[in-house]
Amino acid sequence: MQKSYQFKPIGIIHSCFKEKFGIPRQARLATEATATLELIPPYNNENSIRELENFSHIWLIFIFHQSLSTQWKAMVRPPRLGGNKRVGVFASRSPFRPNPIGMSLIKLRGITQQKGKLSLELQGADLLDQTPVIDIKPYIPYADSVENAQSAYAPTAPETLLPVVFSETAQQQCREKEKQLNTSLSLLITQILQQDPRPSYKTDDDERIYAMKLYDFDLRWRYQNQHVYVIELHF
Ligand code: SAM
Repeated sequence: MQKSYQFKPIGIIHSCFKEKFGIPRQARLATEATATLELIPPYNNENSIRELENFSHIWLIFIFHQSLSTQWKAMVRPPRLGGNKRVGVFASRSPFRPNPIGMSLIKLRGITQQKGKLSLELQGADLLDQTPVIDIKPYIPYADSVENAQSAYAPTAPETLLPVVFSETAQQQCREKEKQLNTSLSLLITQILQQDPRPSYKTDDDERIYAMKLYDFDLRWRYQNQHVYVIELHF
């Protein structure tokens, strides 16, 4: 019998993404998606992150904590293959894996220390709010980036992006909300929706109004003529 191993979270993510639906399918696809990694005692110690501020990007190793109740399967259907072709779970980035561990390469915007909390400020995260992080490693280009590497069914970032159109109401609501947030909300919404977060088998226009939880509101939109129409931010 193989031994099993236990890991403790070293930090918790605070992110604008409050539910799984709508989160970009990889890190750095929505560059306006900011998040904070708050380090947990005893790791919230300046010594643990000394020199980290001099790295522009970091790897976060985390637990897919909202996929724990779903059994993993040997084969999965990656959205990049339209959801109709299966590949081995280890040839995928699926959250449903034997050990539900994810890894994301993320831009490190800075490190803050406030009211006894030590936090890493992140940009371009694909992480759900409250995600437990079990490790941080600096990104080292000479070792981590490979020129001319082959990447099977996902050779480049998704290229088909849907045009995103805002209603006047949504535009006004974005302008109001942006005053509180340190980010361009309309750009973030565009980055999320242009990648079409619907399941990959669903690419036709339909009558449905879609919604996802972002910050403290529900973002609502619909599809028409292969465009995304942002209806409103519902508070
Ligand atoms: N970059 C990571 C990787 O390659 O391991 C994650 C890729 S995975 C395909 C990205 C999806 O994971 C997101 O679209 C989101 O729906 C989901 N996700 C993000 N954080 C999660 C969490 N804490 N628990 C479960 N699912 C999560």
